[in-house]
Amino acid sequence: MKALIKKRAEPGLWMEDVPEPEVGINDVLIKVERTGICGTDVHIYQWDDWAAKTVPVPMVVGHEFVGTIVEVGSNVTDFHPGELVSGEGHVVCGRCRNCLAGRRHLCADTAGIGVNRPGAFAEFISLPMTNVWHHDPKVDRDVAAIFDPFGNAVHTALSFDLLGEDVLITGAGPIGCIAAAVVRHAGARAVVVTDVNPWRLNLASKLGATRIVDVRSESLADVQKELGMREGFDVGLEMSGNPSAFNDMITNMCHGGKIAMLGIPSAPMAIDWNLVVFNMLTIKGIYGREMYETWYKMTVMLQGGLDLAPVITHRFDAGDFEAGFQVMMSGQSGKVILNWS
Ligand code: NAD
Ligand code: ZN
Repeated sequence: MKALIKKRAEPGLWMEDVPEPEVGINDVLIKVERTGICGTDVHIYQWDDWAAKTVPVPMVVGHEFVGTIVEVGSNVTDFHPGELVSGEGHVVCGRCRNCLAGRRHLCADTAGIGVNRPGAFAEFISLPMTNVWHHDPKVDRDVAAIFDPFGNAVHTALSFDLLGEDVLITGAGPIGCIAAAVVRHAGARAVVVTDVNPWRLNLASKLGATRIVDVRSESLADVQKELGMREGFDVGLEMSGNPSAFNDMITNMCHGGKIAMLGIPSAPMAIDWNLVVFNMLTIKGIYGREMYETWYKMTVMLQGGLDLAPVITHRFDAGDFEAGFQVMMSGQSGKVILNWS
């Protein structure tokens, strides 16, 4: 089959023929239809320090996908050929304390598809049945392809009560933009999104931000006054990984404010702990999605009218993957879809 692989320990990706994956007795074989390019794939493409120390080569990359089941192992009874599915990209151990307690998203021994085990940028992917998610057949195929980052946004956003709250989202990347839509859908009052990239701020306004802020020219303190906020933001979703964005956030939270941190800083960062202590902030780290409560919420929110279509800004055939990666690296994109059909 054709697959997009990291063939050698150097920048670039290669579309090559590789053997079809094997289907164990507990596995589901999926014909991939559409995939989304993630920032992680860009790190692997560019072969930065993180990629070099994390990804063994050769490796089929990619983890955001939707496809149709073509074959199931002999133990699999609740999935059938022809069904539309995506997959949770973290394959958990199933045996650690957290896994056994049903807290699989907290497993300490996960393997990531497209990172440590063969991924989804391929004609076929084989996954354990416990990682496969049935889609509502009516779901938009492109939106189905991005359930992975949609899930990051939902898991982060729904960490804290949002109804009627003033929410600050730092970073209008694809995940920050999706989070804006989710937070609005969940009944927040103000949905303020910051970035330093006007193209992306414009995208955030199409997805439900009630106020966009280019922090190079405006301060959050002024925006708070404009919106009639007297005590600061109730909930903060950090989605940039940028130290100055995080600093903006902790200085603009209300007493007792709650912060969920998804953004991954590229290096250790300093933080003013006095703000955390005296303002009694809660900071929660977020990794991945909850298995499978987040997937359930995503499905139900789409059925309830949540519209993510504007976040998908570019579509390419898989053979044109180079163009897709270039657009991702330009900073002038939301989600970029590769079509494998
Ligand atoms: P992205 O890099 O596309 O978006 C980050 C945005 O932050 C960019 O638009 C950038 O311009 C903006 N930014 C930079 N400096 C800023 C500042 N000072 N103030 C406000 N915004 C600023 O990333 P993404 O794909 O949307 O993902 C969001 C973050 O979440 C990234 O850091 C990514 O690494 C991380 N992530 C974490 C997980 C997890 O499981 N924890 C999963 C996926 C992504
Ligand atoms: Zn485990």
